[in-house]
Amino acid sequence: MNDEAYWILRYRKHILTTGTTTLQALFPFGRAEHFGAVENLLPVGEWQGRNCMTAELDTLPHIPHELVPLRALHTLGGNEAYVLAGRAVQLLDWLATHRFCGKCGRPTMRGRDLFAMECPTCSLHFYPRISPAIMVLISRGDQILLARGFHFKPGMFSALSGFVEPGETLEQCVHREVHEEVGIKIQNLRYFRSQPWPFPNSLMVAFTADYAGGSLRLDPNEIEAADWYSIFHLPQLPDPMTLSRQLIDAVLAQKRKGREGEANADAPE
Ligand SMILES: [Zn+2]
Repeated sequence: MNDEAYWILRYRKHILTTGTTTLQALFPFGRAEHFGAVENLLPVGEWQGRNCMTAELDTLPHIPHELVPLRALHTLGGNEAYVLAGRAVQLLDWLATHRFCGKCGRPTMRGRDLFAMECPTCSLHFYPRISPAIMVLISRGDQILLARGFHFKPGMFSALSGFVEPGETLEQCVHREVHEEVGIKIQNLRYFRSQPWPFPNSLMVAFTADYAGGSLRLDPNEIEAADWYSIFHLPQLPDPMTLSRQLIDAVLAQKRKGREGEANADAPE
């Protein structure tokens, strides 16, 4: 593990970058010792055709650098850099939060598997934790259902979302969350796309669905506001890097295209 590699180094919840002029300069390159006291070394994949490692830093290395939050990497280095750094951060979090066995309380050690922590006393294994969550955009004719949670940026609305519970399928989760959060029934559930969401360890799985019945009844603990919005009069939407925005944009594009098709069909020949 002591070959030259790119390094995604985390220092106090921030990622160290060495420049944004080229993608090669985004993350530092070299051997582990070039960057001082690195802890919790882990391979995360490849960056620019070379191995990429991650580690936690106790002290900052003596190289020109800037510390940025994980989200900023999407703007600075594009989606690939952001996804790779998100993976690195989730692995570092996993190491940092599994230093002791949850069953017997003794210190754990790195297991034989690359991504396993092991308790030498009771042999329990701990793997990186991933928490699946669903997201659904519900349509009713030319309208979509958008909601905002209490923690959202002011004025921003998005698709409904929620965490999967033990023993539940993704589909059951969507139906349950929709019913709990806004009190309606849905049909024609269709898979859209998924996205790792490293804040801290979700896998977002997005769906579209059609309204099937009931009137809006909001969960006062989860939903601050929710309503049907015309595709031509929308509130502020989430950032383009998010799966929720990609889901909304895809549905809007499809509906607008459908509208154009109808308009062309109505036009006199
Ligand atoms: Zn144990």
